[in-house]
Amino acid sequence: MEEVRVRRRIVLVPVPAQGHVTPIMQLGKALYSKGFSITVVLTQFNRVSSSKYFSDFHFLTIPGSLTESDLKNLGPYMFLVKLNQICEGSFKQCIGQLLDEQGNDIACVVYDEYMYFSQAAVKEFQLPSVLFSTTSATAFVCRSVLASVNAESFLIDMEDPEVSDKVFPGLYPLRYKDLPTSAFGPLESVLKVYSETVNIRTASAVIINSTSCLESSSLKWLQRELQVPVYPIGPLHIAASAPSSLLEEDRSCIEWLNKQKLGSVIYISLGSLALMETKDVLEMAWGLSNSNQPFLWVIRPGSIPASEWIESLPEEFSRLVSERGYIVKWAPQMEVLRHPAVGGFWSHCGWNSTLESIGEGVPMICRPYTGDQKVNARYLERVWRIGVQLEGELDKGTVERAVVRLIVDEEGAEMRKRAIDLKEKLEASVRNGGSSCSSSLEDFVNSLKMKNSM
Ligand code: UDP
Repeated sequence: MEEVRVRRRIVLVPVPAQGHVTPIMQLGKALYSKGFSITVVLTQFNRVSSSKYFSDFHFLTIPGSLTESDLKNLGPYMFLVKLNQICEGSFKQCIGQLLDEQGNDIACVVYDEYMYFSQAAVKEFQLPSVLFSTTSATAFVCRSVLASVNAESFLIDMEDPEVSDKVFPGLYPLRYKDLPTSAFGPLESVLKVYSETVNIRTASAVIINSTSCLESSSLKWLQRELQVPVYPIGPLHIAASAPSSLLEEDRSCIEWLNKQKLGSVIYISLGSLALMETKDVLEMAWGLSNSNQPFLWVIRPGSIPASEWIESLPEEFSRLVSERGYIVKWAPQMEVLRHPAVGGFWSHCGWNSTLESIGEGVPMICRPYTGDQKVNARYLERVWRIGVQLEGELDKGTVERAVVRLIVDEEGAEMRKRAIDLKEKLEASVRNGGSSCSSSLEDFVNSLKMKNSM
């Protein structure tokens, strides 16, 4: 008789934001390829589409969620706090139903660390659960450290320029000002959310989208402090590519790139959430234009306050970008970074963008906006030495110099060599026998395949 292999089910709980959706869907693909069924639980505030890439996945939506205007009014951190309050009950119901339908076989609930409401259902139904961190291991360490500081005295330290420039004890080379405080909410509410995200409760393991060749000491720190297995299985975009762009990609920029010289273009993108002041946009346009290098610039609709897109920028802006620049609302970023014409990436240093840039051997201009981006920028400049960080006020002279340093000067060529070296190490870590693949993903999968082992 033919053996019928039943796939055990893994439930994924993503945060409805691009930087979180992308890696969790990649993780889903990796786990599906290892023989699991995948159910993705979405909130009604839903930005994940069940596209053709995920036709094998099962999608469920839990009711009673928040809207876009709640996000605008509350800001991302209070929005997350509310989302966690609202979703706890409906997620329990959803898991109860799923267990009835699945004959009680859920191998594991893998939840984004910011969707900590998942733990109530996991506890009630005594299910194995795993916390999935979409930030770097170092940012996780920083959040753990921040979760235990006194908000009031930390704020005083941060506001003292002498202290904020100093290295934070135990976190070299991060300075006080590099720690992941956020422009998205008051320090107290940010620290409150951080303490929820680093509290692993009954989770039996932590998965991180990183690898030991990038962050071995932070990973060791987590392994020691969390006292559960920590699986660095990244970079997931190399291990399991799964296109999950929530916005429409403008592919015309690839045709434009095809016409540019090898390694000459600076690609600029600040991810899915960062905002830009009009005066900074103008300084950037001047500096980019003066650098004489071609540039591809993603300007997301709504990313310049009080402007739908770029229509309310002064005439000067169009004049400055018209000669050497190309502007799109959203780009196929992976393809852009892979393009031979691209010589550098001006980034806000979100963790996905950071991994994607290193994964293509592209050095960076780092202009972090908030949160963990500051941690990543410091590491890019000081630890991996493949980035130039722009600090303080932006002015056209600094922009021009940074572009020339990265694309034209010998210093940029050295950074590119180091970036290519790191790219090779990343690729090796996800190959069969590499640290992210053999010692992490396989170990994790094996632990799940043994029923009741977690
Ligand atoms: N991205 C994209 N097209 C763009 C800009 C960004 O596809 O024009 C993708 C990018 O490849 C990355 C994600 O959006 O995977 C942004 O995630 P990241 O963690 O870098 O930043 P966040 O948006 O969370 O601030």
